[in-house]
Amino acid sequence: MDADILIGPSNKILEVDLSSQEVKILTVTEKDRKMYLGGKGLGLKLIFDRLKEGTDPLSPENIIAFMPGVMMATGAPCSGRFAAVTKSPLTGIMVCASCGGLFGFQLKTAGWDGILVKGKALEPTYIEITKDGVSFKDAKNVWGIDAISSQSKIVDKKSGAAVVIGPAGENIVPFANIVSGERFLGRGGMGAVMGSKNLKAIVAKGGVYKILPKKMDSFDRAKKLAVKYINSNPMTGESYRNYGTPSNVNPSDKEWILPVNNFATGTHNKAFEISGIAMKEKHNTKHHACRSCSILCGKKGTFDGKSLPVPEFETIGLLGSNIGIFDTNQIAEWNKICADMGMDTISAGGVIAWVMEATEKGLISTNLKFGSPEGVSEALYDIGNAKDFGKEMGRGTRWLAKKYGGSEFAMEVKGLELAAYDPRGAFGQGLAYAVANRGGCHLSAYMVAVEVYFNLIDRFAVEAKPEFTKFFESLNCCINSLQICQFTAFPYTLEVPMSKLTPKPLLGFLMQNIPAIAVNLIDFALYRDFWSSVTGIWMSTNEFLRAGDRIHVLERYMNTREGISRKDDTLPDRLLKEGRACDPDKLTVPLDKMLDAYYKVRGYDSNGIPTQKLLKDLEIIN
Ligand code: SF4
Repeated sequence: MDADILIGPSNKILEVDLSSQEVKILTVTEKDRKMYLGGKGLGLKLIFDRLKEGTDPLSPENIIAFMPGVMMATGAPCSGRFAAVTKSPLTGIMVCASCGGLFGFQLKTAGWDGILVKGKALEPTYIEITKDGVSFKDAKNVWGIDAISSQSKIVDKKSGAAVVIGPAGENIVPFANIVSGERFLGRGGMGAVMGSKNLKAIVAKGGVYKILPKKMDSFDRAKKLAVKYINSNPMTGESYRNYGTPSNVNPSDKEWILPVNNFATGTHNKAFEISGIAMKEKHNTKHHACRSCSILCGKKGTFDGKSLPVPEFETIGLLGSNIGIFDTNQIAEWNKICADMGMDTISAGGVIAWVMEATEKGLISTNLKFGSPEGVSEALYDIGNAKDFGKEMGRGTRWLAKKYGGSEFAMEVKGLELAAYDPRGAFGQGLAYAVANRGGCHLSAYMVAVEVYFNLIDRFAVEAKPEFTKFFESLNCCINSLQICQFTAFPYTLEVPMSKLTPKPLLGFLMQNIPAIAVNLIDFALYRDFWSSVTGIWMSTNEFLRAGDRIHVLERYMNTREGISRKDDTLPDRLLKEGRACDPDKLTVPLDKMLDAYYKVRGYDSNGIPTQKLLKDLEIIN
């Protein structure tokens, strides 16, 4: 059957109430499209318009949005991703995540630009989406089945794809994730939100529409440049393509930012064993990427005779070095347990590291010890099954530290466990963690890239960090609203003539010393070109970045309505007061020196609250 042609976005969003089984179709206005772009931005805006402040994340009133961006199914590089947005049961504030599973493609090619789900089904349910709408199906026969294998029981992969939860989501573990294929909406407990709604899965059966950009010529031009930039950038065309994200291990270890033993130190003599290079050799890794990807960071390999996904860098850091484990077979097995149970490897690793240290310090009594694999598999199953002490571990490090003490080594921000970068070796990353909207998130600004991996600005300086944190937060909001992979930011900003032809020392000098001007010189027009070519709506790069500002500030505003302010924009004491064991200078993150300047460049008041003027200027409120 030939597919029908859909030119540009359909601008049709499904709104599903599981309690009443009512389904509405919303139309995205051109104004909302221009102001919030799509993906994350539009998802946030739709939830902002509907969700009352103070809503319990696990109540039927909470809403979860699944939002492919405008690039989905166009064939643009790295565009096979979709966003999800909801209020997090782990942190009590907004959480957005991005996933490369096939659900987004199926939803989009069924003619839908997104789906909002609220309410609570009476019994375990899954919903099925086709071009004609939504049907509600009994999920009792897949309830209790792991997240990976339950997918094939509800949808034949030739006809559709799903987002599902595993036992962790069903048991409402606050850091349960959502799974599509072998890709994840990892952070902040979105799986628990689905579980609280008795929603095992959403299946989309697409392939009905072929999506074409509105301006084919400019799309083709942008695509050609994008592929060229991706191939010529050392991070995307070499490191990630050949070795996946574990290629971050060696530079992180060299610069002492690899978390080891609950961030006690930043380097380890066995680090090479968990690196991308070592894994490629040991496990014969092959590409296992998201749809429509030109970077190909995802890998599969052979671990103890089994074909398994290669753990991502964050998993290797948190369920590896951070608990003193450098055995890649072991880490791959734990990665698989988390995938089956449907839970976030970063939070799981952060919690286990805290438990190991709390045990060592005598605050609690468990069999978990740094450097020993004993008891870790059982702990992961117990977390997912909410069993015994696993039920408490599943509530996260912040909750555990409140009950048992040890908050100084609870490595979380706003309740979300930190990713695998120690900011005592990259101060801008410290600021970025402290102010990230979803909590201890590395992806909000990903400052570590310019500070360490590309070595463009002085990682121990406080100057320039507020300006670049703001810039990358907003740019990443644009990227996550197009729903293109964030890794494209390396080639799309660094391979353009402006950056490429400027000698690196001069580029670094400008970025470090005149950041307010340097951020305005960064050429990110390729993202705008892609968005405009697909939607047919012209926008200047300033307007485009302003949409990113708007999306970031809207999310912050929604969080401040839940009580977030300066007191929450902080880091664990370990990072503020305690040097790394490996560091003779015992450097700590000078957060206070950066925070006021960051609020100022963002337009927040001194308590970190967006001012009325800012909200009006960005047209978030009237
Ligand atoms: S680079 Fe990696 S995460 Fe990004 S789209 Fe490709 S496979 Fe997915």
